[in-house]
This record gives sequence, C-alpha cells and structure tokens, in this order.
Amino acid sequence: MKRLDVYIIIAVLIISGGLFAMFSLQPQVDQEVVISLKGSEYARVPIDGKEHIYEIETELGYNKIIVNAEGVHIEEADCPDHECILFGTLSKTGQSIICAPHYLVIEIVGNVDSGIDGVAI
Ligand SMILES: [Zn+2]
Repeated sequence: MKRLDVYIIIAVLIISGGLFAMFSLQPQVDQEVVISLKGSEYARVPIDGKEHIYEIETELGYNKIIVNAEGVHIEEADCPDHECILFGTLSKTGQSIICAPHYLVIEIVGNVDSGIDGVAI
C-alpha cells in the first residue's frame, strides 16, 4: 500500500467519524411549531426549550399561543367553544391544534428520532 493511500483512508475515516459525531450530537428534539391562519403560514417557532408567546388577533378572534419546553398549547381564546384550549399541550410531531372558528391551525413538524428512520417521506 502506498503512503498516499494510507493518508486518504485516514482522511476518510476522520471525515466519516466527524459526520457520525455530528449526527449523534444533534439534539433529539428537532421540532417546529407551524402556526397557520386561514390556510397560510403565519409563524414557525422552534421547540427549543425557550418560551415563545404568540398573541394572534384577527377579525375572527383572539388566540394566545404558548410554545415552551413542554410543547405548544393555547392559553387563551375567545372562540365560543374553547375547544382549542381543551386540546391541552401537544409535543409530538404530527399532532395539531385546530381552532375552527378562527381558521387557526397549529401543527408540530420535524423529526423526533434523529435516526435513519426519521427521514420519512
Ligand atoms: Zn378556539
């Protein structure tokens, strides 16, 4: 084996090892909350452990949305049934809160498991 080949092999090992470390060091939670109003995206908030408060007021009504380490929930709303508040706190990808009278949809997107299976189409 030539000396250059050895260097190449070492370089490849270092690079792949680095990539592997990067993937394993990635935080498990890679989720975002997508808030949509009347069918179009209004805001995208990462679930990063910090508290984000969104107060949305339209001609249809008012919703106070809180995103924090636990997930996302609607704190206050002036819709007639308060059904959106009753959803409670969501934290799993694919779950959503809907406030039908206000045309408000809150959805959690992103990968929970950073494994290979997490990249589903
Ligand atoms: Zn509601």
